[in-house]
Amino acid sequence: PPKPAKESQDADSKAPLPKGVVLDKDGKPCRTCTSIASWRALTKQQSQTSLSSSTASTSSSSPSTIPTPATTSHSTPQPTEIPPDCPPDVEELGRSTWTLLHSMAATYPEKATTQHQEDMQGFLRFFSKLYPCWVCADDFRTWMAHPSGRNQPKLGGRKEFGWWMCEAHNEVNRKLGKKEFDCRLWEERWRTGWKD
Ligand code: FAD
Repeated sequence: PPKPAKESQDADSKAPLPKGVVLDKDGKPCRTCTSIASWRALTKQQSQTSLSSSTASTSSSSPSTIPTPATTSHSTPQPTEIPPDCPPDVEELGRSTWTLLHSMAATYPEKATTQHQEDMQGFLRFFSKLYPCWVCADDFRTWMAHPSGRNQPKLGGRKEFGWWMCEAHNEVNRKLGKKEFDCRLWEERWRTGWKD
């Protein structure tokens, strides 16, 4: 999940948020920055909070069978499937976006004109500001703007751009503790298909 430093308490609630829930800049939980597992843990916590508070005010029966937020907060959410017709979580959005980005590299000209390079530069600049998971976008922008200049997009032609995109993706893989992809294979994965 995105970096825990950006996780916090929901501004509207005193309960600590379940692990992996990331807040938006307005202090509300950010769905496109959060995995579906963490999101479900959050909605469960919220329904239990409202259930326990409404029960407390309308019923005198023992609350012992009603789970309280304290029992669920900071629990580790279990992996879960996202239904195909639901809004994307951070992972679904990420997978779809990498498909777009690597496909853009795969169809990039072998040798790009100045105009094409400028267009792609502009796309990446706006993309890194507008990507719907803001913590992802912030980190991606910071990575691209490394003071040494070493992470600037390499836009001369398909091979170097595809390799750069693979390195950008590996940067996120590392951050998330995932296995790095062997960039020598990026073209087989995203352009030609695997050799038999
Ligand atoms: P993905 O990482 O989505 O990869 C999809 C497929 O691409 C893989 O199955 C593999 O075949 C191939 N692949 C993997 N690595 C490479 C590579 N280096 N080069 C070429 N192909 C490769 N999620 C967060 O939780 N926190 C973040 O901060 C975050 N930042 C992101 C920033 C960007 C710009 C993007 C596009 C996504 C970000 N994500 C982030 C989402 C994250 O990268 C994954 O997309 C998500 O976790 C789902 O991962 P996955 O294991 O299904 O495979």
